[in-house]
Amino acid sequence: MILGTGGTIAGASARATDNVGYRAGTVSVESLVSAVPALASKRLEAEQLAQLDSKDMDHATWARLARRVREHLDRPDVRGVVITHGTDTLEETAYLLQRVLAPTKPVVLTAAMRPATAMQADGPQNLLDAVAVAEAEGVQGVVAVVAGQVWSGLELRKSHSYRLDAFEAGPDAGPLAVVEEGVLRRFRDWPRGEALDVSVLPPDAADWPWVEVLASHAGADARALDAWRSAGLKGLVLACTGNGTMNQALEAPVRALKDAGVPVWRTTRCAQGAIVGADDEPASALSPWAARIELTLALLRKR
Ligand code: ASP
Repeated sequence: MILGTGGTIAGASARATDNVGYRAGTVSVESLVSAVPALASKRLEAEQLAQLDSKDMDHATWARLARRVREHLDRPDVRGVVITHGTDTLEETAYLLQRVLAPTKPVVLTAAMRPATAMQADGPQNLLDAVAVAEAEGVQGVVAVVAGQVWSGLELRKSHSYRLDAFEAGPDAGPLAVVEEGVLRRFRDWPRGEALDVSVLPPDAADWPWVEVLASHAGADARALDAWRSAGLKGLVLACTGNGTMNQALEAPVRALKDAGVPVWRTTRCAQGAIVGADDEPASALSPWAARIELTLALLRKR
């Protein structure tokens, strides 16, 4: 099953030489599949679930996507689900789907860094590789396949704004596998875990708790946090400096949030590493974006 959600993989530009001035989420998922002749012999179904630039991914689309993936996975004739997605928030969607579905069949997200109209579009090869992963024996869980590398949905992070191999895994982890000429070479175990179930995700975005990420930085100012607290913030993830520290200007507003019963979780804004010695911090080894999802899920489960 191939589900299309948009992204640069479905992007179109007026000129084949233009790799940045394109419109994401333009080409249909059926066209993406039929642009890869090597997929013609496979039993594939394609469905357009959304058509957006993944910078605009939203909670309602996540709720719809998770439910639709669950429905397809429950079909005995479906071996796996491939999701075409933008690279910008791919790691967030992958993290959410793994936590909610923890599927025993493969759910493979794929993307591209060049639009479908580019002279050297990377989408067709990535889609072909994603189908190869979904077909391979024993694969399970939510993974992402980009530039021949297979990443855990719980670990991947977009780490480059332009390169075709734009992803890495954190903290300090590598790919789970590589795809070489359609053949999978695996290094580590597939993602596993307990599924929270799609029922935890409200279909209506208005029913999701408001959880923000705030980075500590030189010259940090308390006013943003005070404004968020007054406006009804429900949870905060701090992207802290280094090993989990924050500018002293944020200490009082963070305390005020905690006193008001708003959970505040610490992560590091460093691209790699975890907060060492912070085992009591629930998100010490997560990226700020994954932590935001984890905290959102924790708040949703409390309802
Ligand atoms: N802005 C695009 C998106 O995330 C970028 C991409 O797909 O590479 O949809």
